[in-house]
Amino acid sequence: MRLIVLGPPGAGKGTQAQRLVERHSIPQLSTGEMLRAAVANGTEIGREAKAIMDRGELVPDDVINHMVSDRIDQEDCRRGFILDGFPRTVAQAEALTAMMEQKGFKLDAVIELKVDPSALIERMEKRVADTLAAGGMVRSDDNPDTFARRLDEYRQKTEPLLNYYRRREELVEIDGMQGMDAVARDIASALTKVVSD
Ligand code: AMP
Repeated sequence: MRLIVLGPPGAGKGTQAQRLVERHSIPQLSTGEMLRAAVANGTEIGREAKAIMDRGELVPDDVINHMVSDRIDQEDCRRGFILDGFPRTVAQAEALTAMMEQKGFKLDAVIELKVDPSALIERMEKRVADTLAAGGMVRSDDNPDTFARRLDEYRQKTEPLLNYYRRREELVEIDGMQGMDAVARDIASALTKVVSD
């Protein structure tokens, strides 16, 4: 199964992608996680991406597209994968369509987590509080100013993707305002329909 999880920052993409990993035993490919690892390891991509990420802006499409293309060529992606945080622009979506075709892969569904904008900042603040309570490291872009910029980037550059996938009849809309178990249940039942179609 090959899936995309789409939604604004704070919508619960990472949480739901993790549930899908457990259910389908396929890897979660989070471009944000890949970039954070690149920053932590001081690689060339990491050095290029750090300042952009700290501003809450998007890393250039070609950097991300190469990163994803290399990652989905790896052995653990043969049975499928869950893309979390990619694509984020129409150019990335077009590149993904082309690379999937070229690799002979079929996209099964694009899951959109729909969440009221007013709930997103609260969710980010909760993520920070939970991380601190667990003794973890807070993401440097989880602060009010950068988060506002990330939301802005989502509205301007990522929301147009919803129409791109709606036109391709690949979009599955899920009410992301529910608790995470209910969201996971809705995704599971929507996927049953998609796969049996
Ligand atoms: P995330 O963990 O998905 O919230 O991503 C954190 C940050 O990494 C974003 O704010 C961007 O700066 C960068 N990033 C992650 N995925 C992408 C992508 N597909 N395209 C461009 N930038 C990305």
